[in-house]
Amino acid sequence: MSTDLSSKKIAQEVQRRRTFAIISHPDAGKTTMTEKLLLYGGAIHLAGSVKSRRAAKHAVSDWMELEQQRGISITSSVLQFPYGDYAINLLDTPGHADFSEDTYRTLAAADSAVMLMDVAKGVEPQTIKLFKVCAMRKLPIFTFVNKMDRYGRPPLELMEEIEDILGIRSCPINWPIGDGKEFKGVYDRLNDKIIVFDSQGTHGESIVEEVTVDLDDPRAEQLLGTDRYLKLLDDIELLDIAGDPFDLERVRAGELTPMFFGSAMTNFGVGPFLKAFVEMAPSPAEARDRAEINPTRPEFSGFVFKIQANMNPAHRDRLAFMRITSGVFEKDMQATLKRDNRQLKLAYPQTFMASDRDVAQRAFAGDIIGLYDPGHFRIGDTLFTGEPVEETEIPRFSPEHFAVVEIKEALKRKQLTKGLDQLSEEGTIQVFRQPHLGDLDAVVGAVGILQFEVLQHRLENEYKVKVRLRPLNFKHARWVDGEGFDEDAFNRADYTKVLRDRDDLPIVLFRNDWALNYCSQQYPGLRYLPNPPGT
Ligand code: GDP
Repeated sequence: MSTDLSSKKIAQEVQRRRTFAIISHPDAGKTTMTEKLLLYGGAIHLAGSVKSRRAAKHAVSDWMELEQQRGISITSSVLQFPYGDYAINLLDTPGHADFSEDTYRTLAAADSAVMLMDVAKGVEPQTIKLFKVCAMRKLPIFTFVNKMDRYGRPPLELMEEIEDILGIRSCPINWPIGDGKEFKGVYDRLNDKIIVFDSQGTHGESIVEEVTVDLDDPRAEQLLGTDRYLKLLDDIELLDIAGDPFDLERVRAGELTPMFFGSAMTNFGVGPFLKAFVEMAPSPAEARDRAEINPTRPEFSGFVFKIQANMNPAHRDRLAFMRITSGVFEKDMQATLKRDNRQLKLAYPQTFMASDRDVAQRAFAGDIIGLYDPGHFRIGDTLFTGEPVEETEIPRFSPEHFAVVEIKEALKRKQLTKGLDQLSEEGTIQVFRQPHLGDLDAVVGAVGILQFEVLQHRLENEYKVKVRLRPLNFKHARWVDGEGFDEDAFNRADYTKVLRDRDDLPIVLFRNDWALNYCSQQYPGLRYLPNPPGT
């Protein structure tokens, strides 16, 4: 499929895109920050709409009651909004530890990440996990220290903690002036200016007024008060010794994290952060690890990183979320599915402008689109037109929790099979068969135990099947292949169990670390793979 757009126009569109995710520990303020980014982008307006959007958001996620019951966000969503000349794709990632597999996959679609931390808490466990996934890909990481309107830890201590725990050097781009109730503004280090926020009459519902003056302007001291001004001068001297100098190359290589301070609640610091972020973060054309695909290549390509079923129970729809890696996507275009070379019509594309789903006419490299999926797609699928492109690697994690699915009403077996099939394609769980039992008593595997509750809940609500999940006491799963693999021998031992995956490949469950080590020593000729062979 050819497009009528010139390559210059395509390059311009790609250049103005920024596709990123926010990573943080629950409660650091990601939801609040997301709303404020939308506010600063002009996607939502003024007082009250933040709150009503919160309500609207709940309506969107009504399909998943569990989400409300637990007050956690289970699914990722994608927000696209303009900011000045930029087109932003913000991948929202669930924060709860048990849903991290979904989060990891979402990070495969991002070109950079914003690491949000609570000034009082610093680096927290979930931040560490997510950081590691970003670091694996050498993703540029921007740090936003949030909740500066509260008293927290000294910024220099946070810089040290980031280096000690995460192993990345930091470079404050701005520096807080005061903290808690006295948090007045930030010092913009690259431009030698102070930015003072107007605290009158806003509770974070509208864009905060800023007064910007040069550091050596006499008004600076007046605005801050002599004490605070002198303290800032001291801090600046210290900082010049403590942090690393700003180096865009190192930022882009994921070796240096630019650091910002602010309060998502009062909006202080959100503006200066966003302005610097869009300039420093890479466009899809500059993102390093997509080098194998040229984003301005005129032919279309993209990969599926997430599948979400039944967003609206009334329609039984299923969406495949695709990150576009090159070219132009046009509504209803045909593309080749790399897995089996099938030609597919990419129908009903959706983009996500705040909470509204509109029909997208066109999308470019860096954009995320939701495709209507009648069951064609799997996570990790690559699609293209023209010359074939390389596959994009999506991190996979082998399950660590296993359970046998026992059905309460035998007549509903068909619905159960359909539900398990769809939920496994979506990546919620993995489904295995017990070879001697055919379709009876399937075994499900998940990375996080909470996923089982989601499974049970969704089977009951969306497929009308009640199941009991009988936990199996195994800890690891490995695809085993190689000369001399004796399935019976593995089945006879009580510390291993052989199952089949959906492609009928043998997969072995191991009781514990010992069992896995023992077998690898006993049968050294076999390969024990955490992912299916050939992936
Ligand atoms: P998430 O779990 O990371 O999405 O966090 P939320 O955005 O839901 O915020 C968690 C709590 O922290 C909420 O009560 C927010 O109102 C509060 N919060 C978020 N940002 C700030 C901030 O900048 N300052 C203060 N004081 N509270 C904040």
